[in-house]
Amino acid sequence: MCLDNAIVDQRDPTSHHEICSRKPPRLLSGARVRWILLLSAAALVIARMALVRGVVAPIYVAGASMAGTLQGQHVRVECEDCRIDYVSGRRFRGDHGETTCPNCGYGQNAPAGRVFRGDRVLVDQWYGRWQQPSRWDLVALRSPQSSGEMIVKRIIGMPGEQVTIQSGDLFVDGRLLRKPLSVFRDMMVLVHDDRFYPTMSAKLPRRWRGEQATTSWVPAAEGYRFEEHTKVAVGDNTAQLIQDWLTYRHWLCFSKGVPRTERTEETSVLDSLGYNQNSPRGQLNAVSDLMLSGNIVIGGEGKFSLRVADGTAWYIVELDWPERKWRLRRNGNVLVTVASQELSSGVPFLVEYGMYDRTVLLTVNGRVLLKLDVNPLSRGPDDAPASRLSIGAVGLSVEVSSLRVVRDVYFLAPGPPWTHWEAPGRLSSGHFLLLGDNAAISTDSRHWTSAGIARTLITGRVMRWSDTRLYSGK
Ligand SMILES: [Zn+2]
Repeated sequence: MCLDNAIVDQRDPTSHHEICSRKPPRLLSGARVRWILLLSAAALVIARMALVRGVVAPIYVAGASMAGTLQGQHVRVECEDCRIDYVSGRRFRGDHGETTCPNCGYGQNAPAGRVFRGDRVLVDQWYGRWQQPSRWDLVALRSPQSSGEMIVKRIIGMPGEQVTIQSGDLFVDGRLLRKPLSVFRDMMVLVHDDRFYPTMSAKLPRRWRGEQATTSWVPAAEGYRFEEHTKVAVGDNTAQLIQDWLTYRHWLCFSKGVPRTERTEETSVLDSLGYNQNSPRGQLNAVSDLMLSGNIVIGGEGKFSLRVADGTAWYIVELDWPERKWRLRRNGNVLVTVASQELSSGVPFLVEYGMYDRTVLLTVNGRVLLKLDVNPLSRGPDDAPASRLSIGAVGLSVEVSSLRVVRDVYFLAPGPPWTHWEAPGRLSSGHFLLLGDNAAISTDSRHWTSAGIARTLITGRVMRWSDTRLYSGK
């Protein structure tokens, strides 16, 4: 209200105090108003440039090549058995089509009217003008194939690099390429969320179960509970506390292309993706890059442990509760010790533990507490055990809830033998190697005539605008 009055004030200073007596008269001088008008006009010009002339262009993701990270056209389904929401990229001729819940394996027809267009993203077309594009960035470009359609990929290889794919991992110049944690979180695929448990199918076993026949782990209302374990005598005079393990068991949770098996049959975690239900694959690969997360409440005295296996070794991080110290062991040998003094008895904390890109990672309440790079395996994890993740306890009481298992993306060769691919050569100057996160579907540098894409062909960096990450467990 006083803006008009302040203008009046310039012409007739005496009028100001009558109308707006408590405001300082200099608040909106003529010069200030001119600046406001100028800045407003500039903002309008920038907004128009951004939205109309293409500095920042909004687009919808249509295809499946980035699914898991960015969904293309999809159907949203609520599982009738476990009640989780998930997306499937199935394209329907009519309204219905059978889908399989990626969380519990339950098959059902998708409801009518639940087909949605893909995620909306913004493309920053000023990207890379003043600095080199960065590895892991999502970028939009015109397809180098004849279609010329706009596509989204992720930058993997930088100029001068030689990229290979081996057993699901990426290598650059012979060295394993490790993702930053933020990129892993962006790309990770939900394997199982224990909060969503089948209620319609009676008597299915729990996915997390005690390993020993006489386990003290029992299902609880919102997860699992462990009551203090008794000491077990080992040898003549020594009494050793034996860990009691609660272990994740995986089922087949996909529909076509592989023999349909009962849901209770255990298998390794495989590189299937719920989105790809209309694209069966003849070969699925065992994935060893797995992380668990959950809420933990500890009381009493004793030890709490988390365990991940990579096919050749156990990596166990053991929390000595009275000392509040974590010790990471590999096959019994202590590799690292870190303190965690902020933890209190009876107070829940969020823990995350596992391995991706040959990095053992422990976070507590979102903070990275332990991160250890270990050597790549000389062979793939094809002989993966059915379960690689466990939670152990001894001598204390533990409540575990909201358990989730996620996996890393498994990069594939574009054809048999699927697990090994080598780029035709080093990337030329100013050229980048681009891959889609949905390796089984994406058409990218693995398929194009020239694996390297020139910087000038990249339209811009892709930024999220709206997305369906909730439906993919992120
Ligand atoms: Zn389900």
